[in-house]
Amino acid sequence: MKALLLPILLLSTLSFAAVPAPPDDGKLRIICFGAHPDDCEIQVGGVAAMWSAKGHHVKLVSVTNGDIGHWREAGGPLAHRRKAEVEKADEILGVATEVLDIHDGELLPTIENRRMITRLIREWRADIVMSPRPNDYHPDHRYTGVLVQDAAYMVTVPFFCPDVPYLKNNPVFFYYPDSFQKPNPFQPDVAVSIDAVIQKRLDALDALVSQFYEGGANGYPELMPSEPTKQQERKAQVRSGFEKRYESQANRFRAKLGEFYGSGKASSIRYAEAFEVCEYGRRPDQEELKKLFPFFGE
Ligand SMILES: [Zn+2]
Repeated sequence: MKALLLPILLLSTLSFAAVPAPPDDGKLRIICFGAHPDDCEIQVGGVAAMWSAKGHHVKLVSVTNGDIGHWREAGGPLAHRRKAEVEKADEILGVATEVLDIHDGELLPTIENRRMITRLIREWRADIVMSPRPNDYHPDHRYTGVLVQDAAYMVTVPFFCPDVPYLKNNPVFFYYPDSFQKPNPFQPDVAVSIDAVIQKRLDALDALVSQFYEGGANGYPELMPSEPTKQQERKAQVRSGFEKRYESQANRFRAKLGEFYGSGKASSIRYAEAFEVCEYGRRPDQEELKKLFPFFGE
């Protein structure tokens, strides 16, 4: 009996011990899921850095290893390269990183993956969980959204994955913004100024060379010129592209920024991130949102 049990116990411990669980120190515990090693950094890097600067515990998880996310290279070496890139980016943001070893482009909402996501949320003892919405152009993004939705209630059910203690308090689940309209558009519930961390945020994205300078899966050789001055131009182009992205988010979510900062202050905010509350976890009111995003008095 013991001989049979031991390998099972070892497996369940080894698979989920990559990053130690945060201490119970009264700080917030946030776990964010993205499908690929760059998704979380794009969607929540600014607020993640702001939580981290206040001592809250943030972990960014890529559910696939990104091993087809390049036009020139693929497989194990690309997975290693992308893991190193997000580790560097997340070090700049001050957050923990985990990359799950599932092939890019092949994520499915299976029961095994539902268990895996449930265990990760429980092990982090999360107060906040973030994910993409399940309406998205990329199947891995969609199924990351579905898997996190599928875990949203199960994290509280004692006999689902009884090997990891269940959560007595259901976390609040949030979606990242996107532009898809069908069947329903993203509706922001909270918007946060990331002006204070914009340079750090852009520095972290700079570390994801394979995806942005080299163009990822849809890139091509001419994106990375050999001439140093042209290379600098390319870097500046990528950086300003992201700067515009967070500027346009501030414009898009200006009304929501006004609800949290007051319309005077909101009008001067240049860069922002916003999130929508998922209906399946705990539903916070405005007061609780201000505790979960403790940035509005600044
Ligand atoms: Zn992605």
